[in-house]
Amino acid sequence: MIKIENLNKSFGSLHVLKDINISVYESEVVCLVGASGSGKSTLLRSLNFLEKKDNGRIFIHGKEITPKTHNINDVRQTVGMVFQHFNLFPHKTVIENIIEAPTMVKKIPKNEAIAEAKKLLQKVDLEDKANVYPSKLSGGQKQRVAIARALAMQPDIMLFDEPTSALDPELVGEVLATMKELADEGMTMVVVTHEMGFASEVADWIVYMDEGRIIERNKASEFFENPKEKRTKEFLQATM
Ligand code: ADP
Ligand code: MG
Repeated sequence: MIKIENLNKSFGSLHVLKDINISVYESEVVCLVGASGSGKSTLLRSLNFLEKKDNGRIFIHGKEITPKTHNINDVRQTVGMVFQHFNLFPHKTVIENIIEAPTMVKKIPKNEAIAEAKKLLQKVDLEDKANVYPSKLSGGQKQRVAIARALAMQPDIMLFDEPTSALDPELVGEVLATMKELADEGMTMVVVTHEMGFASEVADWIVYMDEGRIIERNKASEFFENPKEKRTKEFLQATM
């Protein structure tokens, strides 16, 4: 679904992504872990073309994607993204948030978009919140709306950037449960997270980054039980 080859990215003199290589196959869940500042968000954003890479190649569905050969907005439809801070439109109701992109970008008729949005709200267990504004929702509910909104574009791949980091501890579980359901349904997912319980339970692969490099990529079970790299061991000791 995704392949990245020798991706590099700098902000000025700061070399943030150093020769990144990753492949993600269909229905896989990859968790990206590592200390703050290690480049996880920049990598995720590069995947969705929210950051411009300096060099390297990005393939989606086996095709190399460049701004010259592809309309990046079309590509973003295949790749959904959920952020730490929800980014819901505050002046729109829950259902208006969900139908915005399908109706405006995909030009889906409003009644169809609404029907689909209602199904998605059922899926994230919020069918009773269709007509409320985001300010009336808990953080966990907002994040589940954000997930429904991303799914409304029918992406093939979902990217999550620390989707539970801004939540009160008691609200983390409901969002992780929604993500686990999505994974169980076969969604291809790349998840930046500090939730090691979720990572060990749901991920197929763990990618550990430090200072802009991939230090270790390993099967989730191996990563937690038998990490290969010294730095990974230290990271796990510090976080778990
Ligand atoms: P992580 O998500 O792992 O915490 P980031 O990808 O957000 O790491 O950041 C990696 C490094 O790049 C950090 O040093 C951060 O300060 C820097 N950085 C991120 N975004 C920008 C930006 N837009 N301009 C300048 N520096 C940035
Ligand atoms: Mg980040």
